[in-house]
Amino acid sequence: MLQQTQVDTVIPYYNRWLESCPDLQCVAEKNIQEILTLWEGLGYYSRCRNFYSAVKEVVKNHGGNVPSEWKQFRALPGVGDYTAAAVMSIAFHKPLPAIDGNVYRVMARVLGIKHLTPYNKNRIKNRLEKWIDTDHPGDFNQALMDIGARICRPNKANCIGCPLSDFCKASALGTPNQYPTRKKKKPIPHIKVVAGLVWFKDTFLILQRPNTAMLGGLWEFPSGKITSASHPSKELQSIMKNEIGLTVTIGEEIGSVHHVYSHFSMTFSVFHCFIEHKESLQSHGPFRWIKPSEIPCYPFPKANHKIFDLLEFSK
Ligand code: SF4
Repeated sequence: MLQQTQVDTVIPYYNRWLESCPDLQCVAEKNIQEILTLWEGLGYYSRCRNFYSAVKEVVKNHGGNVPSEWKQFRALPGVGDYTAAAVMSIAFHKPLPAIDGNVYRVMARVLGIKHLTPYNKNRIKNRLEKWIDTDHPGDFNQALMDIGARICRPNKANCIGCPLSDFCKASALGTPNQYPTRKKKKPIPHIKVVAGLVWFKDTFLILQRPNTAMLGGLWEFPSGKITSASHPSKELQSIMKNEIGLTVTIGEEIGSVHHVYSHFSMTFSVFHCFIEHKESLQSHGPFRWIKPSEIPCYPFPKANHKIFDLLEFSK
């Protein structure tokens, strides 16, 4: 949960998760929809799907016990070197350095490394393997993480009071914030999307995103990118016809919402749409016709919740 996400954001999700799933067996017995609903709103849903697959594997192949050997744990879905080293050192006291972006920054400053090239990253890893406290490897890793998160911040290194200041090269040079050099962030692209709330009587249509796609397994309104200069409602009509196989009557515009993901931003224009007969949908994955009261039973991306807010379904 904490990957790419701040602690304050995670805490309510973590507590809710533990109330609902206090142990691995309990996670393994739930279906993926229930699990995604618990995660709903936290983003980066591949973490959730990977965690679910890993738990299933632990229950099926390891008797419900998290493997304590690097090779077996590292092979679980979603586990990379950092997660494996963090868990191995904190839970199983193995002397393995857990190196994330914060730790690379702290160590680049301590060693006076300007450029985080693969060669220099390897130097950092080798140095940490020598320095790690073999009696308390978990404490060692967590101390470095904390220094990176609280003291040695990207733009503000608080060297006074830092326990590493006596032997930190960047601090001695007086320019710690210049280590390591940072790549300039490229501006993220913006895309315009049109979506339809397709009504049949008192139900509307939702489609499930493929598991392999971004936000995989979540549900959403039928939508598509706006690619022409024509009015979004016209574009929506042709998306419905050509991509979903529905002939819809476009109704009132519900409004538009803006949402920012890590690598792009998006504006959704949303319209009510109506059909008189349920036609068969064209080559689409799972779909449902649901009533507004059934929204809590399905996990939706945050952008869709912003649309629900416009509709005031929950009020
Ligand atoms: S002494 Fe300063 S630059 Fe070095 S690790 Fe500590 S806070 Fe960072």
